[in-house]
Amino acid sequence: MEHRCDPKLPERIQGLTDLAYNLWWSWNPDARRLLRALDLQAYRESVHNPVRMLDMVSPEVLARAAQDEGFLSLYDRVMERFRAETQVPMDKSFPGPVAYFSAEFGVHVSLPTYAGGLGILAGDTLKEASDLGLPLVGVGLIYSHGYVRQRIRDDGWQEEAHEPLDGSCYPIRPAVDGEGNPLIVPVPPFDPPVCVGVWRAQVGRVPLYLLTTDLEQNQPWDRAISQDLYTGDLEQRLRQEIVLGIGGMQALRAVGTIPAAVHLNEGHPAFASLERLAAHLTEGKSWPEALAAVRETTIFTTHTPLHAGTDLFPFPLIERHLLPYCERSGIPRDGFLALGLDPSDRGAGFNMTAFAMRMSRATNAVSRRHAEVATKIWSGVRWDETPVTIRPITNGVHLPTWIEPLRLQALFDRYLGPGWRERPDDPASWDGVEGIPDEELWRVHEERKGALVAEIDGRARRRWQSGTANAAGLIAAGTLLDPRILTLGFARRFTAYKRPTLLLHDLDRLRRLLTDPLRPIQLVFAGKAHPADLDGKRLIQEVYRLALDPRFAGRIAFVEEYDQHLAKYLVVGVDVWLNTPLPPLEASGTSGMKASVNGVPVLSILDGWWLEGYTGTNGWAFGGEEISGDRTAADADALYRLLAEEVVPLYYDRGPDGIPHRFVRVMKEAIRTVAPRFSARRMMRDYLELYRPALGLSAADEQPRNGPLPQ
Ligand SMILES: *Cc1c(COP(=O)(O)O)cnc(C)c1O
Repeated sequence: MEHRCDPKLPERIQGLTDLAYNLWWSWNPDARRLLRALDLQAYRESVHNPVRMLDMVSPEVLARAAQDEGFLSLYDRVMERFRAETQVPMDKSFPGPVAYFSAEFGVHVSLPTYAGGLGILAGDTLKEASDLGLPLVGVGLIYSHGYVRQRIRDDGWQEEAHEPLDGSCYPIRPAVDGEGNPLIVPVPPFDPPVCVGVWRAQVGRVPLYLLTTDLEQNQPWDRAISQDLYTGDLEQRLRQEIVLGIGGMQALRAVGTIPAAVHLNEGHPAFASLERLAAHLTEGKSWPEALAAVRETTIFTTHTPLHAGTDLFPFPLIERHLLPYCERSGIPRDGFLALGLDPSDRGAGFNMTAFAMRMSRATNAVSRRHAEVATKIWSGVRWDETPVTIRPITNGVHLPTWIEPLRLQALFDRYLGPGWRERPDDPASWDGVEGIPDEELWRVHEERKGALVAEIDGRARRRWQSGTANAAGLIAAGTLLDPRILTLGFARRFTAYKRPTLLLHDLDRLRRLLTDPLRPIQLVFAGKAHPADLDGKRLIQEVYRLALDPRFAGRIAFVEEYDQHLAKYLVVGVDVWLNTPLPPLEASGTSGMKASVNGVPVLSILDGWWLEGYTGTNGWAFGGEEISGDRTAADADALYRLLAEEVVPLYYDRGPDGIPHRFVRVMKEAIRTVAPRFSARRMMRDYLELYRPALGLSAADEQPRNGPLPQ
């Protein structure tokens, strides 16, 4: 990828370039205000990508800004804070950085390196590490086919289009070698080696290295390694994971970063451990010593209780691609292959999760329930005869990213004081939520709901203008939505176990709820199916057909193109966040956390994080009982009853002031109880307890030194 965006800025506001290239701006409300103030249209048209935006702004606008006192005073304030926060040294007690490996990173919509929840979690992790001063270094891939764009045909079938990286204007810069030339790392398991280019994104104080094989030097099949996220071709997928793990370790070495520990986010990057074994053997350690050294310093997080979610590579494929490399590095063939055996399906292949578990000193699952489930699934995986233990570290969300920045954060600043920013994981920081006047919270909520409806209308209008939509499709896209009606949001990946159509189980009951003359509800759906998941696509089609069906009065909408951008509208703009997976298959779920911290209560089956999060007064829960056999009808019945008997009456019970005070109580409880416990701050402090022994540090005695930001 050639790099072209190189805006010429007036001297006085030249710092905007640095700001644009550090994703820190995305979670600083004043920095967002600054970009909007510079040129709102360019900010919107660039889809919130300031690197591209600066390229679009006219020289006249820039010159005017450089002389506008109001703009300059905001500029100076933002730049001062930016420099202060990004130049504070990280926690100095760490002997070296923790390399955080992940196949996806969802830091911001301007960097298309994620598909869903796993990536968003990785992005939130880097941001929180930056805020907290934990020296993390992210390692991932950049996919040159970019995002898979979702388009729903008139018959409801999902089609995909790739939006290739256009070679410029992403908030990344090439990593360079000692002479300032773009770094090219030859990755050796391939013969001849595949050339890997390295990009660097900056996430506050945390660097994120993104690897690509899509370089002119490489053969077409090698170029394709990093083109698509989770490529469906198994062999290419293996090659992709070799580049991520082995290439990732080599790229770190090439930029002069020697990690003191490695955190593997899911099994995809686990070959990093293989490269580290090779390095120890090359230094002269024995095989058992090398194993011990890598294990001592590796942390592994498993994210799915689904077998299909773990990578399994046939042994012959592994041997073909990795045995020559193992031989050269002194890694014994049988010893290596045994590390990837899953005893529960012996012989099926090399299991990346089993490999990662054996090569880590600590493995964690992403909620308490998931830890129980994962412990059962992986009970056969042993190390030194002992089953590997899986402990829970429940996911959390980066609050400055996910709490609506302009209105809601301002409300929190006013009524909660600085505590919610400084100590977001301390429940006491959130006591002030009680004191927010109902009327103010409700007014902000209504405004955000209006913004969601306007966004949905805007998307439909653009589609209509493009000439590719029929009129009925616009109704399915949400143009009849009414901001005064109780609105349920469901936005997840469309796949069978998430049961997006549970609410559609009994169409008569659903229709009565939706078209009640006095107290109707409406549904907003969004989410992509994996291109290869035909069942997932059928579920989208089912929703879409009902959205087109006049019996439902335009009160069902399917909004295309669920991504981080749309998520930010949805989690604050609907009234209730719906979640209906088949227990116990939801590892954690994080979108409900995002909704709750914005005062959008969750209505969810008891699974994943909601088993820990639900207090009885901060949302609604159903389906806690064990049911053997098909539980669809029972769950749907419980869901309809909760809606009709509790949620609908609460929402429409208005005082003389027009405010549903009892509903607002639930909103406040959602914020107060969920924000501290399911913040990324709490999550990263938990991970810090896993990092400490891996780094040779004693257990938690104090806060990180030099780490946290001055506020
Ligand atoms: C938060 C988020 C997810 C993950 O949500 P789940 O509740 O875990 O399904 C997926 N995609 C986007 C765009 C998100 O923002």
